[in-house]
Amino acid sequence: MDEDIVEEMSKYGKFLENRGLNLSSHSGNISIRRGERLYIKRRGAMMGDMSEEDVVETGVKEDDSGVIIASTEVGVHRAIYQNTSALAIVHAHTPYAISLSLVRDEIVPIDDEGRYHLKKVPVLEVEESIGSDEVEERLPEILQDYNAAIVKGHGTFAHGENLEEAYNWVTVVESICRIIYLVENLGGETRAEEVW
Ligand SMILES: [Zn+2]
Repeated sequence: MDEDIVEEMSKYGKFLENRGLNLSSHSGNISIRRGERLYIKRRGAMMGDMSEEDVVETGVKEDDSGVIIASTEVGVHRAIYQNTSALAIVHAHTPYAISLSLVRDEIVPIDDEGRYHLKKVPVLEVEESIGSDEVEERLPEILQDYNAAIVKGHGTFAHGENLEEAYNWVTVVESICRIIYLVENLGGETRAEEVW
């Protein structure tokens, strides 16, 4: 396996961990697409401490190689790669985005930077959100139009041309949600139509 793939995945896994963007240590997952191959975090590997044996290679399309030890969400990653222009995906259990998704159907940024980047952050509500067929079917369609979305009560999914871009979207969404949370706790207005 290419050393630079392991290096990139390990680097952004550490960023997620160190920034508190993925609260429980072994959760979340990140992946990279190279042609028809897919490189994804191993099931149960620590996000903030990935080495070569924690990166699993498999196919973008159905392919049994590596699947058993790949992330629980390998099916969702495949579906996103097959249906969008994504070349990298970051999925993290982002505390502010998860919390806000439990009380709102969609999230509209109220801060300037958030508004500059995104008109809204879609929230996908499904019956079963972890590694489910429903997420595989519905999330890619949303991600055709948006670089990031939140699966309700579960976490943020973001994609881009590389891990840096996908990671950036995760941080933008978390920043938007965190500011709404902070303003709400200061007693301020947090519905975009009231703020602007
Ligand atoms: Zn997850």
